[in-house]
Amino acid sequence: MKKLIAILGSTGSIGTQALQVIEEHPDKYEAYVLTANNRVEELIAQARKFKPEAVVIANEAKYQQLKDALADLPVKVYAGEEALCQIVQEKPIDIVLTAMVGYAGLRPTINAIRARKAIALANKETLVVAGELINQLARVNRTPILPVDSEHSAIFQCLAGEAGNAIEKVILTASGGPFRTFSHEQLKTVTKEQALRHPNWDMGAKITIDSASMMNKGFEVIEAKWLFGVRPDQIEVVVHPQSVIHSMVQFEDGAVKAQLGMPDMRLPIQYAFSYPDRLHASFPRLDFTKCTELTFEQPDTTRFRNLALAYEALHRGGNIPCIVNAANEVCVAAFLHDRISFLGMSDVIEKTMERVAFIQQPTYEDYVATDTEARCVAKSLINK
Ligand code: NAD
Ligand code: MG
Repeated sequence: MKKLIAILGSTGSIGTQALQVIEEHPDKYEAYVLTANNRVEELIAQARKFKPEAVVIANEAKYQQLKDALADLPVKVYAGEEALCQIVQEKPIDIVLTAMVGYAGLRPTINAIRARKAIALANKETLVVAGELINQLARVNRTPILPVDSEHSAIFQCLAGEAGNAIEKVILTASGGPFRTFSHEQLKTVTKEQALRHPNWDMGAKITIDSASMMNKGFEVIEAKWLFGVRPDQIEVVVHPQSVIHSMVQFEDGAVKAQLGMPDMRLPIQYAFSYPDRLHASFPRLDFTKCTELTFEQPDTTRFRNLALAYEALHRGGNIPCIVNAANEVCVAAFLHDRISFLGMSDVIEKTMERVAFIQQPTYEDYVATDTEARCVAKSLINK
């Protein structure tokens, strides 16, 4: 039986690579729903090629253009945030791939879980903001959350066949980003152009900035807690500039398992679709004679304060990770518009954490209110 897949964010880096995976396995997968935020031309081209049942464009101003361009096809066309949240519940859908950016992924993910869809989760912000709520919903609805993030996919692959065996720790590898060797002095003046040049991965703008600032790794630490049920002190980050080892698990007998491969997101995307099976893939293989050096360093949380802030958020829990995420989204957008410096981002995030009221056991409504308030605080700090 073919699995029908809804891709939230099909025009992005993860979305387009997911379509390549689907294209490689037309007997196994079908793109049933495609969605985008703004890039209507790309969405039209994808719809013509993959002939999905439905497409959704979040930006309602682009609805007519999309509708007209697809008038000759039997594809349903919708627009708006509400449509996005509803489409994931369509009965035939088996898997929802959450490949949109940021907090906007939370509500559609919740709806998809409630409709008992398997979640292939790329949108890590959802787990950062509301990991406890998401886990609880997934438990109640007995639906799996399958990691797409390469580090978490690596850990997930290391855990296959280890049910019941105690994990001592998980070790997340980090490339260190474009500023790994920069001094604090040098970091003061780095530009968005420099930050957008990631050494190993070609990704969307937001996650590329998060990788340069190490907030991405901080978010992945929080993501690991919710995906694998490990304590903060069991989650270690090690800088590994070659990005050959995608992450590791150390078990209670001291054995360390690692997953290695080319830095290619199509593998973790495909594994989330095919789990527990593996499928043939045609993309390039790792050549050990060409990666003669694998090196490891401790991350520097003094130069990269975001990593320390994310650990603090993880320890304090409640709505603090939600505050950090909202402040970070505002900061990254401002940095991409040259309205804040690279190091200024950590200052604003830290101050926002201090100013927004702490809630120990947030409800969904509390997360929504926290997100709104934290964005407001972060914006006013940037405007000062
Ligand atoms: P991207 O910017 O390349 O693509 C984002 C996609 O989501 C686009 O299709 C866009 O139209 C859509 N989108 C954005 N905002 C939206 C909104 N408010 N409402 C509806 N749709 C919206 O981003 P990406 O690099 O593909 O990353 C997507 C997610 O996957 C992020 O959460 C990121 O952290 C995560 N992720 C990405 C990678 C990677 O290699 N790119 C790796 C690990 C995790
Ligand atoms: Mg990652």
